[in-house]
Amino acid sequence: MICRKVKANLADLLLDPGTVSAEVRNHIDQCAGCRAELDSLRATMQLMDTWQAPEPSPYFDSRMMARLREEQRAEPAGFWERIQARLLYGSNMHLRPMAAGALALLLIIGGGTYAGWMSSSTSSRPVRASAVVEDLKSLDENAQILQQLNALDENGQDNNSASPDNL
Ligand SMILES: [Zn+2]
Repeated sequence: MICRKVKANLADLLLDPGTVSAEVRNHIDQCAGCRAELDSLRATMQLMDTWQAPEPSPYFDSRMMARLREEQRAEPAGFWERIQARLLYGSNMHLRPMAAGALALLLIIGGGTYAGWMSSSTSSRPVRASAVVEDLKSLDENAQILQQLNALDENGQDNNSASPDNL
């Protein structure tokens, strides 16, 4: 039996000795090289048994939560992500139904564009490209609607804060 074959069984000899043949055991008794390798492997395994994973720092949880809040406050990159974030995390609670309405409007416009493309698909002009252009236009319009809603909202807040002085 060659050493290479025995060395492949060394881990089994330590973890599950019952599966290792007597032939392998006999070789290890006689071969200094394989015995040394077995001792080295055993030492490594004992070291790993005594190793303990370090406890996370006591500030880990609070730092993690702070980081999460930061991520929530951070402005997402895309147009859709901005709308989504506004609906999910927006502090303007009363704006949510209006923003949802604007979204529904967008879906209606988008659906109408699609229906127009379907009905005119028999004509020869390249309607597919124009449908995409229409979609982009409606996206732009809705961005403007949202901006106007924002402006309305800010005005409303100004009026509310000013009303005690007027009374
Ligand atoms: Zn050997």
